[in-house]
Amino acid sequence: MKPQRTGDVSFWYSDIGGLPARRAPLAGDTTADICIVGAGYTGLWTAYYLKKADPTLKVVVVEKEFAGFGASGRNGGWLSGGFAWNHEKYLTNGKTPTDVRRMVHAMTGTVDEVIRVAEAEGIDADILRTDELMVATNHAQMTRMLDEVEHRQSWGEGPDRVYAIGEGETLARVRIPGAIGAMVVTGVARVQPAKLARGLAAAVERLGVTIAEGTTVTALAPGKVTTDRGTVTAKIVIRATEGFTATFPGLAREWLPINSAQIATEPLPPEVWARIGWEGHEILGDMANAYCYCQRTREGRITVGARGVPYRMGSRIDTMGEPDPVTIERLIAILNKHFPEAAKYGVAHAWCGVIGVPRDWCATVGFDPATGMGFAGGYVGVGVSTSNLSGRTLADLSLGRKTDLATLPWVNHRVRKWEPEPLRWMGVHGMYKLYAMADQREKRPGVGPSKLAKLGAWITGR
Ligand SMILES: Cc1cc2nc3c(=O)[nH]c(=O)nc-3n(C[C@H](O)[C@H](O)[C@H](O)COP(=O)(O)OP(=O)(O)OC[C@H]3O[C@@H](n4cnc5c(N)ncnc54)[C@H](O)[C@@H]3O)c2cc1C
Repeated sequence: MKPQRTGDVSFWYSDIGGLPARRAPLAGDTTADICIVGAGYTGLWTAYYLKKADPTLKVVVVEKEFAGFGASGRNGGWLSGGFAWNHEKYLTNGKTPTDVRRMVHAMTGTVDEVIRVAEAEGIDADILRTDELMVATNHAQMTRMLDEVEHRQSWGEGPDRVYAIGEGETLARVRIPGAIGAMVVTGVARVQPAKLARGLAAAVERLGVTIAEGTTVTALAPGKVTTDRGTVTAKIVIRATEGFTATFPGLAREWLPINSAQIATEPLPPEVWARIGWEGHEILGDMANAYCYCQRTREGRITVGARGVPYRMGSRIDTMGEPDPVTIERLIAILNKHFPEAAKYGVAHAWCGVIGVPRDWCATVGFDPATGMGFAGGYVGVGVSTSNLSGRTLADLSLGRKTDLATLPWVNHRVRKWEPEPLRWMGVHGMYKLYAMADQREKRPGVGPSKLAKLGAWITGR
């Protein structure tokens, strides 16, 4: 089966009538208090909280294409308050488990904060409060799921926030063939990503921020952002380019641009939904090593996302979100496996985008008061909520505020660079190959989590 449409940035734009008209580019050389590069969630949230803190600030956001062109307009719409990725790895620079728990708490709180701002600013992003459901379909996945529940609880997420359910309760929520249990995470939400990005851009503009679209930044330096439309001179410069960061001179080995792809079905009729269940519209994934993430959309489509072809040699990035045929086939296979009821309906759209992955797979907010340069990202595919915390934190750091957020363990967390090619290509492809082999082995009755997945994670430092 072929999708009716591929690329065009994402389904989420087809859903709102196509790609947006562009705002004006930068009108030549200009000055600002703060210049933000990239109008995804990170850049927009930073601009939002800066203007809320001090409405007199002159903030300019410079964006190569249009606000929400990147991952922020293409993602799976999981507003999860989740943690990327490894709690233990934040125990550096004298940070304690208490500090990491503070961060877990702050991350959890992002869900309420995004919803609060959306309501206050009149942003309609199909936001629906719900649970996250991570379904296990074999013994190994079940073991991994129970370990994950225990791990998260040990880092401060209570049993009311994260808990396990058995086969009966899982199937009562959603009839996924072979489901034997699931991890439930409460207090999360589903969103329409592009609506959130576009609504946030409009809100930021109403506060007096200039968003210059169709303006490519070619160089970043303290106090100076060089673009193809002129130079912005600003005391503070924030880089908010996440998965695109590797395209900047000198940053190719900073964060790997890892590909993630999705499909969206046609809207399914009520009788099909009656057989699938999923009445809670949970954000839904599985506990495979090469896991998938799904949502039930506002109008009753299913979106399925997964990694596909994970990485292109030399950190190359696709532009318009055109996934390759192998990836599309994989996504359709996942759809058919988890939702056989939907198999005979068409796939309306397939698309992809990039996420930023640091060498230790841990997100960072960075700021150097001496140079006025800051950045945030490396969210490893969980940036919808994390970027909100970044925005608040970058605003505090830029304004020199000594807040709780400014001392969370991810602030100025240091990580080494990725290896030169072809080593990083081999590492990432090796890891996903091993994940696929592990998932195959774990299908055997009664076997536990495969060591191949551990080996895969070890190769790339995950
Ligand atoms: C397919 C997919 C599914 C995902 N699903 C989820 C999910 O369900 N839940 C979740 O939490 N996270 C998810 N993520 C991750 C999440 O979308 C990102 O972490 C988040 O959107 C990152 O926001 P950002 O603003 O940092 O980066 P982006 O949204 O990528 O924004 C960066 C911006 O910088 C601009 N830019 C790049 N280069 C330049 C330049 N030279 N000059 C000027 N501007 C430039 C880009 O055009 C872009 O608009 C997913 C990502 C993808 C790709």
